[in-house]
Amino acid sequence: PDRPESVTALFDAAVDRAPDTDAFVYPEYDRTDTYAEIADRVDRLAAGLAAAGVAPGDIVSMLLTNRPAFVETYFACIRLGAVAAPINTRVSGRELSPLLEDADPSVLITEPDLTAVVADADYDLDPESYYVVGDGSEGRSYEGLFESDVTPPAADRGEHDPATILYTSGTTGQPKGCVVSAFNLVNGAINYRRSFDTDEGLRVLVNVPLFHGAGLVSNLLHALANAGTTVVYDGTGPNEFLSAVETHGTEFTLTVPTTYVLAMEQGDPEQYDLSSLETAAYGGAPMPEENVRRLREVFPEAALSDAYGTTETTAGLVTMCPDAYTDDYAETIGLPAPPIELAVVDDDRDPLGPGEVGELAIRGPIVVDEYRNRPAATAEAFADGWHYTGDLATIDEDGFVSLKGRSRDKIVRGGENVYVLDVEEALTSHRKVLEVSVTGFPDAILGERVLAAAVPKPGERLTEDELRDHARERLADYKIPEVIRILDELPKNPGGKVLKSELVPEPLQHGIQAGGE
Ligand code: ATP
Repeated sequence: PDRPESVTALFDAAVDRAPDTDAFVYPEYDRTDTYAEIADRVDRLAAGLAAAGVAPGDIVSMLLTNRPAFVETYFACIRLGAVAAPINTRVSGRELSPLLEDADPSVLITEPDLTAVVADADYDLDPESYYVVGDGSEGRSYEGLFESDVTPPAADRGEHDPATILYTSGTTGQPKGCVVSAFNLVNGAINYRRSFDTDEGLRVLVNVPLFHGAGLVSNLLHALANAGTTVVYDGTGPNEFLSAVETHGTEFTLTVPTTYVLAMEQGDPEQYDLSSLETAAYGGAPMPEENVRRLREVFPEAALSDAYGTTETTAGLVTMCPDAYTDDYAETIGLPAPPIELAVVDDDRDPLGPGEVGELAIRGPIVVDEYRNRPAATAEAFADGWHYTGDLATIDEDGFVSLKGRSRDKIVRGGENVYVLDVEEALTSHRKVLEVSVTGFPDAILGERVLAAAVPKPGERLTEDELRDHARERLADYKIPEVIRILDELPKNPGGKVLKSELVPEPLQHGIQAGGE
């Protein structure tokens, strides 16, 4: 009874309950839409898309930043029974081509600043089905879609039919399109509501991309499930993040660890009233324990919560929920929320015992069925309802999960396993360190060696030797990075994930020995 059977039902329920509540606030566009207003725009846009030939089951590719058109288009697709396929807006033309080939959309909607990327893509785009937000000087006019008086057909879609294609961030290769159903999306949203015990009218701040699961599900659909308000930013600087919390009285946000680290180190947290923030959640990338400790001082009133998920699990999964937290579990990412099941398995996918390191697998209503157009990758990552994440983890006797890094990140140095997250934790605890990322590089003798890249806090001078000494006090000798690089910033993708391959300088990438021993 608690769970609507479609995203449209979730949306309509919010509109019925709270027509005059601000549904979406876009400070960068100086615009606010109440639920009644967004419902009206969505109806008109759905009609326009139907008139443009979009039928239930068709794909609508969206190359849109966090702006009103993203939200309207997303819900108009859902209303029509069309499949929204948001694309990473940071892509180059060359990266866009395979994504459009994969989606094969009926319609592509984008915005003026991104038309050059579309023009650069090697993709045969039908000019009739290309819509651009703005004055209509390029493509067909997105605004014109609101002028149709066609009544869209009632969408007859089952809850297990594809509703949205969400692409993985492509950290380990070409982004894969996860085929997400209404069942997955509604369960994802409700899972967040239940895990964090959030209330009707919840005020959410989103500053991560809506084209990824964390933006769309953990923040936006989560707010919708509470008939709440989503304050939408396309991105925030350190003080902008803090002032957004104060100005909009936001109660929940899930953002990448970098947002908090920068707000702490480069912003002026003491200048803002952050007391409205009940839950400050972070996910998408590891948050070292040391940073959590520092964050606690900045947000003394907020529950700090790790939130781990993957695109394949509709963004949601393991959360360090406020009521589960004790200091003993500081270095874990928390517990899964029922009805989600977890297992840690060995290379044969047999379950391992408490404390043993293996691949994390997940089962439950948020696990998608497949990757679009990728039967081989689907067969590898999904079996019997389980998703095999490619992340290494342990689960203790009480069910608390600790991540160890991606299986591809495991460094095997002369036969010894080095888990990158253990090394990153140790180095981040140095007082001058802002951020660290650790990776392996090939070596003719040991197979792999350990490389660390560290970014000092603003105004701090950090040397390789200081960091190596710090590592020596905390880590076994084979885990101590042999190459340490001090960088101004880490190369990252928009999901906040470090692009590890870019950390290894060209001469070290080919298994040539680094200077010898
Ligand atoms: P691809 O699958 O294309 O290589 P990706 O795995 O980065 O890309 P996403 O689904 O965006 O695609 O990211 C999920 C991954 O992000 C997880 O498998 C995990 O490695 C990492 N991650 C997510 N949340 C957390 C978290 N709270 N702590 C640490 N790592 C996290």
